[in-house]
Amino acid sequence: MGGAVVDLDEARVREHLRERARGRIMHACAGCGRRCEGSRCPACQVPSPYATAEYREARKLTLATEHVCWICERPGTVKDPLTADHLVPVVRGGRSHRTQLRAAHRSCNARRGAAITNGGDTA
Ligand SMILES: [Zn+2]
Ligand SMILES: [Zn+2]
Repeated sequence: MGGAVVDLDEARVREHLRERARGRIMHACAGCGRRCEGSRCPACQVPSPYATAEYREARKLTLATEHVCWICERPGTVKDPLTADHLVPVVRGGRSHRTQLRAAHRSCNARRGAAITNGGDTA
């Protein structure tokens, strides 16, 4: 029962805490399963479609020229501002191009979910 030998688990926990303090905890990559520092290794990074300059520019243009929601045809409010909505949802391969975006309330956009529309020109 000698306390001289450091328990292996304890050593591991200490190492873990040290790593965490340095912000270097390794995770299994969500893409390939290899150990990496983020949720995905650099090789498996998928850039967010919302983080591109193309999307930012297209959104700016959309919101500068469209002032009513294409779903409910009402203007944006402070509580429910207009956002740039993808006509073809990003998860279905929609592009972040100006011609692919329409101004929509955040709530309308959320309600619509990832359904494909005909472009909103039915009215
Ligand atoms: Zn990976
Ligand atoms: Zn709306």
